[in-house]
Amino acid sequence: MNAVVLGKGKSGKAAAELLEKKGFNITFYDDKEPVELPEFPDLVVKSPGIPPYHPIVVSYRERGIDVIGEIELAYRYSKGKIISITGTNGKSTTTALIYHVLKEAGYKTFVGGNFGIPFSSFVEKTTDDSITVLELSSFQIEDLRDFHSSISVILNITPDHMNRYRSFDEYVEAKLKLLDHSEILVLNLDDPALKDLNGENFYFFSRKGKADAFFKDGKILCENLEIDVDLLPLKGVHNVENYMAALLVLKKLDVPDEKILSGFRTFRGLPHRTELVAEINGVRFINDSKSTNVDSLKKALESFRNVILIAGGSDKGLDFSPLRELVRERVKRIVAIGETAEQFRKTFSDIVDVEIEDNIFQAVKTAYEFASVEDTVLLSPGCASFDMFKNFEDRGEKFKEAVKLLEEKLAE
Ligand code: ADP
Repeated sequence: MNAVVLGKGKSGKAAAELLEKKGFNITFYDDKEPVELPEFPDLVVKSPGIPPYHPIVVSYRERGIDVIGEIELAYRYSKGKIISITGTNGKSTTTALIYHVLKEAGYKTFVGGNFGIPFSSFVEKTTDDSITVLELSSFQIEDLRDFHSSISVILNITPDHMNRYRSFDEYVEAKLKLLDHSEILVLNLDDPALKDLNGENFYFFSRKGKADAFFKDGKILCENLEIDVDLLPLKGVHNVENYMAALLVLKKLDVPDEKILSGFRTFRGLPHRTELVAEINGVRFINDSKSTNVDSLKKALESFRNVILIAGGSDKGLDFSPLRELVRERVKRIVAIGETAEQFRKTFSDIVDVEIEDNIFQAVKTAYEFASVEDTVLLSPGCASFDMFKNFEDRGEKFKEAVKLLEEKLAE
């Protein structure tokens, strides 16, 4: 049997290894290292980074050969239950939270997908009684075929990746394809793209009204359970949503309430997501480097007051003007960086002062100079990082370094 694997990234490598173990002859292709491809292979697997309109994908499909994704490939060798998490924002946090609770509660569980651990790399360890928690991006959902998950979560759908999709509707459609691959759905009732969906096994969460899990007077309510959010470690309105989504999943899995509660209390969150880095002379520094679109920036601003905002990065064609009111209310000054710095100036300079800096070290210094006691210096770029950094982790680490340097300088 011959297989072609397109894309030599992490998931491509894992797919190739899995296929080799299963006895396939592999042709491993990458645009950077082109090789001759077989005309009629038995199987073609593509990495999520390769767009559906890539000439090789198009030409295989024209020849009647289906091109599947790495998740679909792994699924074909998987056992046990699968929980899938998608959405524009909150995927990693919710995935990690569910995994943490299951693990602490003693279940046999695995985590991966868009989470940085390819499904193919561990699928052979899955068993009939294991639960695999998968984070799925819209790119990965596009390439599913027979994939089936016991429970799927769609957290939200807001504009992002507008350089890959032709319209917002097309992006919504890509995410909603997950509906066809799931037995039970957990959805956000407050999201305009999700609120009108209905089906037999659809469960909703809401911060604003009544739902299967909902938020009222500082508490999350679901069936017989009441959870005071002040007692939970992850802060911010967005995390209330993530907790509610996780709660519905865990309830559907029949995880005992006390295990859910203790797992929620011991989950400390992931780095680079509204992460408290330091407090210097009464000024808090928050690293939200993973904020790469308008809604994640919105949620960060809703979570803090008296903000000196460091934002900007590579240009994905997003419009930040819906945040004008929120910026007026909560932001004292913007320090803009990267490709979109000028866009931030144009969008907000009639409301707040906008400085432009050309590196993160100077941006942190400038932000601190303008901050007073009880202010928050918030790095929440609302943009991808590739214009100035290797990735969002690199951007977050450099921010932390800059804060550390500042602290040392001030201590001299
Ligand atoms: P993803 O894996 O979908 O990118 P993360 O959990 O890594 O999600 O968070 C990405 C960014 O979105 C961070 O800035 C985080 O603070 C913010 N965020 C997390 N959960 C939500 C949510 N439910 N709604 C909106 N923004 C969120």
